[in-house]
Amino acid sequence: MSQALPDAIAARHFEACADRIVETARALADKGWTPATSSNFSMRVDAGHAAITISGRDKGKLGRDDIMLIDLDGQPVGTEARPSAETALHTQVYRRWPEINAVLHTHSRTQSVASRLFARDGVVRLQGWELQKAISGYHSHDTVLEIPVFPNTQHMPELVAQVDAWLDAGKPLHAYLIDGHGIYTWGRDMAESERHLEALEFLLACELDLRTLRSS
Ligand SMILES: [Zn+2]
Repeated sequence: MSQALPDAIAARHFEACADRIVETARALADKGWTPATSSNFSMRVDAGHAAITISGRDKGKLGRDDIMLIDLDGQPVGTEARPSAETALHTQVYRRWPEINAVLHTHSRTQSVASRLFARDGVVRLQGWELQKAISGYHSHDTVLEIPVFPNTQHMPELVAQVDAWLDAGKPLHAYLIDGHGIYTWGRDMAESERHLEALEFLLACELDLRTLRSS
């Protein structure tokens, strides 16, 4: 990290977060889930700050200097770098849930196709899949796991408002799709976030396969 960090933030902790983001980003890029420099990843550094990927970098080739510090209003801290265009969706999660420490956003082909297919319903209703239990708080395949699909927009406050409206209606939220775009999910640590993302990718692929087979 070449930028000066505020004294209040331990540089070593920021660097540990940056290294963990880099490790995850490379793994997800290897799966092909971050095409053409898309996708963004973050980790909470402390109660008021997060480490997040700098906009426009190839997620398969990230290093520590491709990660920057922001406050929870999405403003850069100690750097001139520009954070991801979707930073507001990350900081919203950290502000809403103090226990959440990592947010992942990818653009896999499965996520993208599923988001288009389910957009007209506004939600993917998952039920009957054993792997739903990979989502924290779900203990049975019988429970319905709802993943909302929000309309895409380049205007982040609109997306933030859609997420707020879902939560303010009292509905559980562990992830959401954006139509034609990708998925957001999160967890109490990076490992939990990775597990959520991997499970959701698998479940969405299964739903797409079912529809293909039933229509053939
Ligand atoms: Zn995106």
